[in-house]
Amino acid sequence: MERSIRVQGLVLHHYNYGEADRFVRLLTAERGKISALARGVRRMNSRKAGHLEPFTLASIQLARGLGGAWVIDQVSTIESFPQISGTLERTTQASYVTELTDRFALEEVENRPLFLLAVETIRRIASMEDPFPALRFFDLRLLDLTGFRPDLQNCVICRREIQAQNQFFSASLGGVVCPACYGHETACRPISVRTLKFLRYYQKNGFKDCLAAGWPIDIRSESEQLLTSFLTFVLERKINSQEFLENIRK
Ligand SMILES: [Zn+2]
Repeated sequence: MERSIRVQGLVLHHYNYGEADRFVRLLTAERGKISALARGVRRMNSRKAGHLEPFTLASIQLARGLGGAWVIDQVSTIESFPQISGTLERTTQASYVTELTDRFALEEVENRPLFLLAVETIRRIASMEDPFPALRFFDLRLLDLTGFRPDLQNCVICRREIQAQNQFFSASLGGVVCPACYGHETACRPISVRTLKFLRYYQKNGFKDCLAAGWPIDIRSESEQLLTSFLTFVLERKINSQEFLENIRK
């Protein structure tokens, strides 16, 4: 077991521990998700604290503490996003990304594409006027990278190719159910042909093309609900930040 490693990590979340310490959950480029103890960061004069706030990309030196837990030795910021903490909506959107990343990432299993996706999405939330396309791109890529890619090409029951018409979506079967098969599967929700078209496009294309395509305002709510209900199904639990985001829009 190594005594010490240096990693690049995105701070997902932290929680207080003891009198002055904090546990920090990181998604690292090299090791997947890591939880590490940051000693003394809640003291006024802590030099580490500022580098360990959520959504910060940092360079971190970790050492094995007693019992094998990681302890943060040194930390410096690589990139931070002050624009995010400026608005409640952006903070909630960024929390949505870190919450889902935290739930899907595996402890100490390298997943560099997931690390890059999370960092790029945080960067997009910080810089884009309208981060909606970046969030839906994140949803679909996250599902790809963690093995839950929904089938949007063929009916998940009869396997026939999906036609350009309104369809249904089954979270439990992981994809589109054609109108002929609807009825066999009760837990379906309708999906309009336009939403389906955008989901398919985002599933197949790079971010640059997706951004150029945008996402029409009138189908945003349908698309967002469909994806978040699918993610909730896969995770078998609610997404706290998504609920919060819906509440602040009311
Ligand atoms: Zn079918």
